[in-house]
Amino acid sequence: MKNKITAVYPGTFDPVTYGHIDIIERASQLFDEVIVTVALNINKKPLFTEAERKDMLKSVCRKYKNVKIDSFSGLLADYAVKKKASVIVRGLRAVSDFEYEFQMSLTNRKLAPKVSTIFLMPHEKYTYLNSSLVRELSKFDGNIKDFVPAEVIKRLKEKRDRGL
Ligand code: ADP
Repeated sequence: MKNKITAVYPGTFDPVTYGHIDIIERASQLFDEVIVTVALNINKKPLFTEAERKDMLKSVCRKYKNVKIDSFSGLLADYAVKKKASVIVRGLRAVSDFEYEFQMSLTNRKLAPKVSTIFLMPHEKYTYLNSSLVRELSKFDGNIKDFVPAEVIKRLKEKRDRGL
């Protein structure tokens, strides 16, 4: 019997967008198990807490039965090995993502040679979408219904109402 293939999909997810969900859905069809994991990066100051980001991911990923939500701090390569993952999934939107992703994936391969990074492209309608665009639009009450699910819109509104 073939071994189960576990993939980890790391990101800040501040907040999760339809672009991320597009990648999660594609990964869930390719791998036996997908662990979507919130990177707790001390250099970034996210709008949403770790718990809020995980809650939103849990809610939007409920329908994908082989997708789990987690978080990690420290090195992604160590985390992937700990989770017995053989794949790291990243989304590639445009050439502008390439240089950074190329450097990260080669570094991770050096640190964990048995873990391969796989890049998935979202539907072209999400290629310009990112979480910071969504946060910025939401701050000024812009229409974000094509970018994030209703649950995320509600949470963003709560932040706006608190002046965050
Ligand atoms: P990071 O801070 O690690 O870039 P993000 O949450 O912004 O975290 O992104 C996590 C992953 O999802 C990255 O691989 C990123 O390229 C990908 N991603 C983000 N937005 C989109 C999108 N609109 N379409 C496809 N992939 C995306």
